[in-house]
Amino acid sequence: MKSLRIVIFLSTLFVIAAKGDPSLPGEARPVIAVADGDGSSLRGGGNAAAPKALVVMLDGLRADVVVNGEMPRVRALMEGTWRSDYGCAWSLSGGTIQDAMTESAPNHISIATGLTAVHHGIGSNADLLHGRHTYGGVAGKPATSWLSRLAAARPGTKPLFVFSWYGDLTLSPDHKVPFLYDRDEANAKHLADILSRPDAPDAVMWYIDKPDHAGHAHGFYPYSSDYLAAAADVDRWIGSVLDAIASRSSFPEEDWLILVTADHGGWRRYHGMMSAQAYTIPFILAGRAYVPARRIAGVPRTCDAAPTALAHFGVDVEKLGLDGRAVKTSSTSQTLREAGIPSPVAHFSFDAPDPSVKLRGAAALVPQGGVRGGYLRIATSTNAPGCALLPGTERLAFTDGEFSVAVWVRTPGPQVGDPPVLSNKDWNSGLNPGMVLVASRAVDLSKTSGCTAEERRTGAPGFAFNIGREGNGRQDVGVYDQPEGKWVFYAATCGADGVLRLYQGNPDGHLYFISDDASGCIPLSGMSFFIGQDGTGRYRHAFVGDVDELVFWPRALARAELQCLFTSRMALREDR
Ligand SMILES: [Zn+2]
Repeated sequence: MKSLRIVIFLSTLFVIAAKGDPSLPGEARPVIAVADGDGSSLRGGGNAAAPKALVVMLDGLRADVVVNGEMPRVRALMEGTWRSDYGCAWSLSGGTIQDAMTESAPNHISIATGLTAVHHGIGSNADLLHGRHTYGGVAGKPATSWLSRLAAARPGTKPLFVFSWYGDLTLSPDHKVPFLYDRDEANAKHLADILSRPDAPDAVMWYIDKPDHAGHAHGFYPYSSDYLAAAADVDRWIGSVLDAIASRSSFPEEDWLILVTADHGGWRRYHGMMSAQAYTIPFILAGRAYVPARRIAGVPRTCDAAPTALAHFGVDVEKLGLDGRAVKTSSTSQTLREAGIPSPVAHFSFDAPDPSVKLRGAAALVPQGGVRGGYLRIATSTNAPGCALLPGTERLAFTDGEFSVAVWVRTPGPQVGDPPVLSNKDWNSGLNPGMVLVASRAVDLSKTSGCTAEERRTGAPGFAFNIGREGNGRQDVGVYDQPEGKWVFYAATCGADGVLRLYQGNPDGHLYFISDDASGCIPLSGMSFFIGQDGTGRYRHAFVGDVDELVFWPRALARAELQCLFTSRMALREDR
């Protein structure tokens, strides 16, 4: 939760800044040749169009809201359908900076400066309030916003910073640029008006606060109607500003970069914790260089926004030594391979006794009532807790670390400890090779703002995914709340770009997703998979619950493919 402590101190500035138009540097707009750094060329070739940029930061907007909420204008940017000659490079697996809490201030400053906390000095909102911003720079990296850098590198270029959170005034000492500081809706109106004029600014950074307020008040996850309404409002405002841009008489001679991202996501009513629920953000770039729409490989982060915007104006960002990197067309995936769901490398339907499923202890097949036909029930037993060994799964034909696994799980209530639902690793250490879908893994709320003392004490158990990585590493993605007594869909995928995505098909009908970098992950351990146990079959905490339709694929399925499987309740073949 953002503090309101310095609101009064800054109210005078608010009045000054919010009135009238910002005084923009008065020189005529220069026509700057567009950099062609990665070998891509602009459509239409020949004539260099005048570069322009709009960088939008949506405070607290989870990446999965973009596809589950009412955000048609942002989705059109992503799908490359905003204007016929504009494409997109997009990622719904973007990330916050990794050396700061998943709070606003560190990431707002990273978006503005292209630096991470070690260089801009702000690791939390509290650091901001205590004035720890290192404007002068650390290790020769001044925490200067891209707007300031652009104005210096391209004299005559007109920048504008638009925001509604007083905390962003802290960027002002650095910003020798005009700014608008007002409520979100007023900013949107004002910005649309400014951008429709011939003498509009060339480079705009626009921070919108509303989704964060709705998330804190009513929940980021599961989706609250207020949070969804905030996303819809934001989308409408962005739409009005995009319309203003497209209405410019000089628009055909201009080359706009539209960048939409967020500072963090959220879970329940919080963010701040080191969890993919708060890490995962959208990172969407629309521009003429990005035809057709392609997905950005890897994890673009908040600190990549500034260098990406500067590179659009032809600034040599390599020389600046920023922590972030410019997202170029060369860092996009060529195709999404959504040509069809590939054949599984293994499928366990639990409809009938099967030699490839060895039941142990209090485990049994139940012939009806599963997601599709029968299911596997793992009951509790003091002497012989249930589990099922899947012989042969130690040799699943995954390709070079790429895989998908999906499973449906129903739990009767809270679990004891952190039992594996599905695992092929020695879960005594998350560093071990192999993977585990774990029930009741507690998220560390100690650094989370806004939760109660009781919540902090008890933690927040939920479903999470762990995988071992090369070099004695690990990646943990989670946690999801597990609705009790209902079938819930889970899928984990890892693509050639090393991004691990964890999906939850919730009984509320939404397919949620979160993600993180898991490059160098080691999916197979040499041990077979167990259901209800880890790869050793002897983990100290045993899972209790029901499992159905476990499927492994040799590559990362796309979100749309998983959505199809979730919605159809795993219609894999004839019924699809
Ligand atoms: Zn925020």
